[in-house]
Amino acid sequence: MKLHGVHVPHQKNTADSEPQRITVPKTVSIPMSMHIGKPAKVIVKKGDSVKVGQLIGEADGFVSSNIHASVSGKVQKIDEMTASNGARVSCVVIESDGKQERFEEIKAPVVEDFEGLVKAVKLSGVVGLGGAGFPSFVKLSVKDLSRIDAVVINAAECEPYITSDTRTMLDKSEYVFKGIQALKKFMGVKRFIIGIEKNKPKSIVKMKALADRDDAVDVHVLPSIYPQGGEKVLVFNTMNRVIPKGGLPINVGAVVINVTTLAFIGEYLETGMPLVEKCITLDGSAVKEPKNVIAPIGTAIKDVIESAGGLKSEAAKILYGGPMMGIAVPSADEPILKNTNAIIVMDEKEATLPKTTPCINCGACLTHCPFRLDPRSIANAYKLRSGEDLEKLCVDLCMECGCCSYVCPANRPLVQTNKLAKAVLRNYLNAKKEAK
Ligand code: SF4
Ligand code: SF4
Repeated sequence: MKLHGVHVPHQKNTADSEPQRITVPKTVSIPMSMHIGKPAKVIVKKGDSVKVGQLIGEADGFVSSNIHASVSGKVQKIDEMTASNGARVSCVVIESDGKQERFEEIKAPVVEDFEGLVKAVKLSGVVGLGGAGFPSFVKLSVKDLSRIDAVVINAAECEPYITSDTRTMLDKSEYVFKGIQALKKFMGVKRFIIGIEKNKPKSIVKMKALADRDDAVDVHVLPSIYPQGGEKVLVFNTMNRVIPKGGLPINVGAVVINVTTLAFIGEYLETGMPLVEKCITLDGSAVKEPKNVIAPIGTAIKDVIESAGGLKSEAAKILYGGPMMGIAVPSADEPILKNTNAIIVMDEKEATLPKTTPCINCGACLTHCPFRLDPRSIANAYKLRSGEDLEKLCVDLCMECGCCSYVCPANRPLVQTNKLAKAVLRNYLNAKKEAK
């Protein structure tokens, strides 16, 4: 079967930039929701002293995640902020003392079995670091481990600009290996497939070196076609298995894990330091010195930019993530989140969208969609608010990769329409369920 997608300019300008720690910010604002699921419950109060790695937010419910202090200092206030999904969430603001003192109780977890592994991953606060933000311990909580034929390690990093996973592979390959060994030992996984795009030759060498040390590990070098890192696309291209509609990788015997998430697990098992900082690619036309940096979670974007050399022109648009799937942030005051892998700052020229013109029915959106969805018809069904048609057109399969918008010669805002159309479909399906 032919792989659909698009050839996007890679712009991996920072692939050789070794990440450097930014200056410790004066304050950090750590939201209690940086993951899919229920926000964490704040367990500190104004005036409390905290140290790096100390728990400040406790997972509240099964799909939730622990949150830890990323700087040492004093809790200045418990505030509220608006998350990217529009929800209001609590946020712990910590005034840093600049010392970055480590919480005394941090120690490597003792893991003896699968249950212990899941517990440790939960305690670490790690979520999908490739951008998904799904709590990793939930993903690993597979009820029947015999269903897993392979763990697919997502090292595709197909979004333009972003090189934080590349840096993981170059700088932390030992931790990738440790992560693999932990999953092998405690989950009994016999096969690990590292899916990586061919535009990362140095990372491929590193990953192949891991495969040489363990027969269970294979490296699949994939064409550099966006969205190679989409979960369904990756499983198909590495295992030749199709995840059914509404299904998960486990339905076809796979668990997919991002390479940086896996390396973090390997590192956590050795050090016990929870997720408190992130390697971020800072790039885009407005950035003076594109580079990779390491920043405490909760650092304001403006502090990251300033510490990394500043801007060469005014920021017209700032994105969490890459230009294809990134989310525009309302201001540079927004914090670095657990799943932030890049900050892209665009100047006026790069941020200006081309003029939208009427659809010419060329069909390019359909032929480039990885799932062969028909965005043109979805847009028409959305205009009519027809939940019935949207269901038939399977808009819920849309992974919002943006390929359709990218190729559209009329510059139609197809991916944005799909997002709105999904909400119409959800309401339609809920109403249908209630009417039964
Ligand atoms: S319809 Fe959805 S999945 Fe298909 S190309 Fe557009 S955004 Fe991607
Ligand atoms: S790519 Fe754009 S112009 Fe072509 S059919 Fe799709 S919506 Fe219409």
